[in-house]
Formats: sequence, structure tokens, C-alpha cells
Amino acid sequence: MKMKKTGRSPSTDAVHAGQQEPRPEGAIVTPIYQTANYLLRGEDYHDIGYIRLSTTPNHRVLGKRIAALEGTEAALVLASGMAAISGSLLTVLSSGDHVLVQDTLYGGTASFLQQDLPRFRIEHSVIDPQDPSSWAAQLRPTTRAMYVETLTNPLVQVADLEAVVAFAREHGLVTLIDNTFASPVNFRPAEIGFDLVLESCTKYMNGHSDIVAGSVAGRADLVRRVKVLHDHLGGSLDPHAAFLLERGLKTLSVRVRQQNASAGRLAVLLEAHPAVSVVHYPGLESHAHHARAARLFDGFGGMMSFELAGGVDAAEAFIAALTIPTVAASLGGPESLVVRPAAAIHAGMSAEERAKAGIRDALIRFSTGLEGTDDLAADLNRALASLPRAVAGSTA
Ligand code: PLP
Repeated sequence: MKMKKTGRSPSTDAVHAGQQEPRPEGAIVTPIYQTANYLLRGEDYHDIGYIRLSTTPNHRVLGKRIAALEGTEAALVLASGMAAISGSLLTVLSSGDHVLVQDTLYGGTASFLQQDLPRFRIEHSVIDPQDPSSWAAQLRPTTRAMYVETLTNPLVQVADLEAVVAFAREHGLVTLIDNTFASPVNFRPAEIGFDLVLESCTKYMNGHSDIVAGSVAGRADLVRRVKVLHDHLGGSLDPHAAFLLERGLKTLSVRVRQQNASAGRLAVLLEAHPAVSVVHYPGLESHAHHARAARLFDGFGGMMSFELAGGVDAAEAFIAALTIPTVAASLGGPESLVVRPAAAIHAGMSAEERAKAGIRDALIRFSTGLEGTDDLAADLNRALASLPRAVAGSTA
């Protein structure tokens, strides 16, 4: 495993960074500060102790811990990944501005760009993230930012991230990246020059499928601007959720490394199986962006997607036959999750839009959990073997 460019390993930062000193009452764990307001000490409005202003000890510890993990000057925790995404976009864009965005984005982000931002006269253009030579044609005098994701959902593609940073610098644009699928254990976008790094902490960062939270990391002045806006929007993280996020973060590194290892083994198993026609996992040499992922990332993550030769019927029979993974949206928790995106998380897109994004009806998305890899492998093998001949198909 590569080390972070600065500071300590993610394992150490996840446990210790930002810890209160001196520790209140000698507490080893940051207590839950279940108090809405604090004594006034003559601070400016945005620094007054108040939960909505994200100024409580629980917020401050998390801000420092996540900044250390991401390798940035500062970080802010918010009420959800979407609070981080919407708040950051609204911070760097003003009425009349334009943003370049990657072609496949998390659905909530895409809807925000398509349905909400146009009401504030903020427009976007979709770029092909694999073809930097095509980006300049999309620039407008009003273009202010570029927005991408580290790994796309559900095909786990990797944009030309270094080219995004270079292009943005050349044209004076702010770069934002949703790093949720990787987490800072596998990739720290600020190390290659991204300005704002966003996480849905609901996923790997907390890692226990029991809270919704988000984070924004980057230069202190930019993060401060997101905070000041959110002081008005009101998307702050509740102290109890902050406590759970801090607890979850302590095991981030071990969890993600286990999920990397398990997913890597399962992807190889699936790729070799005659009933499986294609596997999308950046750790596989067959993945179109494997070389880029291997160069940039410390691990390939726990997310993959694949198709069975037998198509939709086989996919449905396979999912029904699994005994360990459960059928649910979201990702990054201890439980392995399986979903057919066309029937669930991408059902809101038209068939045409899905076809354009490469999300075929038979595609299955898999979020690798923390169960034993041997047990998961046996379950996948058993479910594949149980497919009736009529639906199994074969690539052999
Ligand atoms: N970004 C990605 C890649 C996601 O998968 C999600 C949620 O699924 C989000 C952002 C939004 O996060 P949240 O649900 O915490 O608002």
C-alpha cells in the first residue's frame, strides 16, 4: 500500500487526527455534545457555538480528522452527501455561471444540476471524461468549475482525472470531485490537485449503514465559504450522527482494505465463470481504466458490476438465489449488497438514457461487505450454479 503524500498513514489519522487536547475529563472517545448552544465569547456570528453553525466539538474533531485523511487544509462535515455536493456547487457557482460535468453522475447530483440549478440560471455541459481534447469546445466565458466522480456508478469507470486538474488550471476553473466510491484510503484527490473533495460519509466513511452524512475537504478559504453558506441553508450534522461518524471512521482503513481484497478476489472469480459475460472492476486488467486506477489509487474499492450471459432472467434468478448479500441501494457498509440498477437505482432514467450511459438491463451492481471472502465466494458460486440451464446462458 502506498503511503499518503503528507502526514501519517490513513490508519493512524482515522483513529487520532483532530482528537481534543486536553481530553475533556480524560475521555478517550469524543463525548456527544448534546447541546444546541454554547456560552457567547464575543465570536463573529459564524463562529458562535451552535449546532447549525457546525462549530461544536463533535464537528471540529471530525473536520480535522477528515482533513488529515484527505490531505487537505480543512474539512467540514454536513448532514448528507447531497448537502456536501449541493452546498459546494452553490458556493463556487453564481447566477449566470456554467459548469462542466462528467457524463455519468450520481442520480441526486444529476437531478440537482438538471432540475434545481437552472432555476438560479446556473447551466452545465456534459463532457466525455475520457477525451480531454473535446473539453475546450464546451468552454464558455461563464465557465467556472469542473465536476467529476472518482469512480462512476455502476460501471466504476475512472475519468482522466489528471487531465481534469490540468485543464481546469489552464482555464482558471475550480475542480470538485465526489470521492465516495474510493474513500480517502484508496484515493486522495487533493494530492493530484483537486480543489474540493466531497464524500457521502453515509457510505465507506461511516461504514455501518446507520447514518447519513457528508463531507467537504479542501483549501481552508473554500471550505469556509461552503460552511458560511450552509450556516444559512441549515444542512448541519446532528451531534449524535457526528459521534457515530467519528466511531465509524476509526475503522475506515481496515474496513476499506478488507473490502478491496475481498472485491478483488470476487471479481476474478466472476470473470472466470462461464455464466458471467462481463465484469466491471478497476482492479481487473480487462477494465478499460485499469492502468490509470493502478497509477492513481492505493486500492480498487469494494464496488463492482457484472452481467450474466443469460441476461435479465438470469440476473433476477441469480439475485434471488444469493443468501448473504441483501437487495438494497446504497453501498460501503458491512453488509454485501446487490442490486440490478435498471430495475432500482437507475429506474428513474429512461431506457434510452440508460443505454447511452452503458447501463444495460441485465447489469448487476455489487457492494462488497465485510463478510468472510470465502463465504461470499461460495455464495456467488452456488447462486451461479443454481441457474436453470434455460436462463444460465454461457460465454464458453
Ligand atoms: N455520491 C455518491 C457517489 C452516492 O452514491 C451518493 C448516495 O448514494 C451520494 C453522493 C449522496 O449521498 P447521501 O445519500 O449521503 O446524500
